[in-house]
Amino acid sequence: MEGSDRIGSGSLGNYSLRSDSPASSFLECLEAGPARTVLGHLLDRPHVRTLLAQRETHVPLELVARLLEDVAQAMRGVFERFPESRFLAGHFARSLEATRQGTWRVKIESSTGADSVLEARHVVLALGARQVRTEALESELIPDVRLGDRWAQRVMLSGELLSTEGRLKLRRALERAGSRARIVVIGSSHSAFSSAVTALEVAQGLPLQREAITIAYRNRPRVFYPSPEQARSDGYREFGPEDVCPRTGRLHRLGGLRGDGRELCRASLGLGGLAPDERVRLTALRTFHEQPQVLRELLESATCIVPAFGYRARTLPARDGQGDPIRLGAFGQRRLVDAASRVLDSRGRVVPGLMGIGLASGYLPEGEASFRGHTNGVWLYQNDTGATLLRGIGV
Ligand SMILES: Cc1cc2nc3c(=O)[nH]c(=O)nc-3n(C[C@H](O)[C@H](O)[C@H](O)COP(=O)(O)OP(=O)(O)OC[C@H]3O[C@@H](n4cnc5c(N)ncnc54)[C@H](O)[C@@H]3O)c2cc1C
Repeated sequence: MEGSDRIGSGSLGNYSLRSDSPASSFLECLEAGPARTVLGHLLDRPHVRTLLAQRETHVPLELVARLLEDVAQAMRGVFERFPESRFLAGHFARSLEATRQGTWRVKIESSTGADSVLEARHVVLALGARQVRTEALESELIPDVRLGDRWAQRVMLSGELLSTEGRLKLRRALERAGSRARIVVIGSSHSAFSSAVTALEVAQGLPLQREAITIAYRNRPRVFYPSPEQARSDGYREFGPEDVCPRTGRLHRLGGLRGDGRELCRASLGLGGLAPDERVRLTALRTFHEQPQVLRELLESATCIVPAFGYRARTLPARDGQGDPIRLGAFGQRRLVDAASRVLDSRGRVVPGLMGIGLASGYLPEGEASFRGHTNGVWLYQNDTGATLLRGIGV
């Protein structure tokens, strides 16, 4: 079931960005094993050929979104061959109610406004994620300094900035500010560095001054490398054995920056002989602990402040078999699911029959022991997470 009429690409096509995964990770499903019989015909599509020609590069997400829409259409064709399956586009799930028989009743509203109910033994939540503005405003950057104190008007969440409208909005603000333009990005993840890359692109042709963009982080950014040896030869030494994935030998496999954000970070850290971009400054929030006034002045001078504090998985209002409300996705580190992709309630207990997948769901594949947080990507859904879901459902 998909709420909108556009199926397959979800929110990925909304980001005016290049992918952080190489094109090959999206193409693998067309070429690998049995999926080829269902999806192989897509290899002839012109935009897929464009992706094939750039296999090892990071590609525009708009192009990836078109591929994902094609894949979804092909999968829809498969469902339609089986009378027990149905594909509902333009149908929005409103709530979940557990029955005393151990099934779930899903209340649905169609785009025409018609209500209906589906009953199922298993429900997989794949609703995507959102950024919560109030959380960003209320979160303490350093003791006693919050964006909500007096800078809420200048805050643009990273997800907004990375969209086409967000870019236009930032461009107008930078034009108005002229040589006084300043951008403060807060965070050190993929979204934070993608926001800084986007700001540099948006500012093309404008007189952006030295250190006009500050990336202020709580946790030092981590850079992905295929191996510790490659990291050392690049000049990167900020790691230990706990940062290496035991299965693949990759460094910061889960938590490391990739794609354009990685390149900006490498340059900012002076790695690989790259010259830093003088318009960008990296700084730790902890350096402001002794002088909070300096941080306040920085925020005061900002044309735009971009908190990149991650996402929260979307859920649905739910009730258990007794009719009592269950809060989904509110457990520790914002996890929606456990290692077996089973949805957790606010006390960390498994909610029987509910599974989850997607951005910010909190599924953790094997990787470096030091990793804290969330990781996700289309390849993972089509591989590890997909397999875990099928096992959970008993397929
Ligand atoms: C800036 C950014 C860049 C990224 N770059 C990459 C990348 O390069 N490579 C990569 O693999 N991953 C990348 N990701 C991660 C990627 O976004 C996710 O892995 C994937 O797109 C998210 O899929 P999703 O299904 O969780 O959510 P979405 O894509 O948001 O899909 C959720 C779907 O659920 C539907 N929906 C929501 N609520 C309801 C409801 N109640 N009823 C019915 N339907 C509903 C929505 O309409 C939507 O279609 C990136 C993420 C971000 C934020």
